[in-house]
Amino acid sequence: MAAVPENLRYSIITIKNPREIVLLRGTGCQWRRCRFCDYHLDFSHDMADNEALNRRVLSLVSGKYGVLECINSGSFVDLGASTLEDIRMLCVNKKIGTIHFESHWMHREQIAPLREYFLQKDIKTKMKIGAETFDSLFRESYLDKGMRDVVPAEIAAYFDEVCLLQGIPGQTVASMKRDIETGLAYFERVCVNIMTANTKPIMPDPQVISLFLNNIEPEYRDNPRVDILVNNTDFGVGV
Ligand code: SF4
Repeated sequence: MAAVPENLRYSIITIKNPREIVLLRGTGCQWRRCRFCDYHLDFSHDMADNEALNRRVLSLVSGKYGVLECINSGSFVDLGASTLEDIRMLCVNKKIGTIHFESHWMHREQIAPLREYFLQKDIKTKMKIGAETFDSLFRESYLDKGMRDVVPAEIAAYFDEVCLLQGIPGQTVASMKRDIETGLAYFERVCVNIMTANTKPIMPDPQVISLFLNNIEPEYRDNPRVDILVNNTDFGVGV
């Protein structure tokens, strides 16, 4: 994913856990090795420019649902202290009581201090991780996710929500369903992302996507704890 235009960085999600969502920009994912992802190309090392852009995007947030999701093609740590403070003050001013962020596993020890930082203003933090699958051999040897062989309970000790990647070669109806059920057992919410082609080597598998759409999607379509993104822009942000 190349740099995202400013007009594609704010959206409103009206179904399932209604919330506003912003795609902010930071210094970029520090892992950058996942073999299916080029989201991290949306970054800048110019922190002043990032902060100014993020401030303009955050100015669109109304607080109408009291819930805000902040994503940034990386982890919350890549946003910098100034943007995090802007987000915290926005939550106070717009009466937003719950803030969602995302993070790679490598930053897990920085999550508790972030929760405490927001809790000082009575704001709850929900942290999401892109685990992609709980099959650690598949995840690490094929996707190169950088989480080693951690099991769901270890992940859930730090994270509230999980993203899964489906529609890629090697997955079956049973494996995709098993991952969703494990996600629901250990996490508050599950977000299933269907693979879309990008500049990285792993490609979507049309047959696996067809299996998902015919056998999995109907079962979870109305589950309020499951978001399904058939296209990676279904939340209304990004390209
Ligand atoms: S999927 Fe996440 S952790 Fe992996 S390279 Fe992309 S932004 Fe980084």
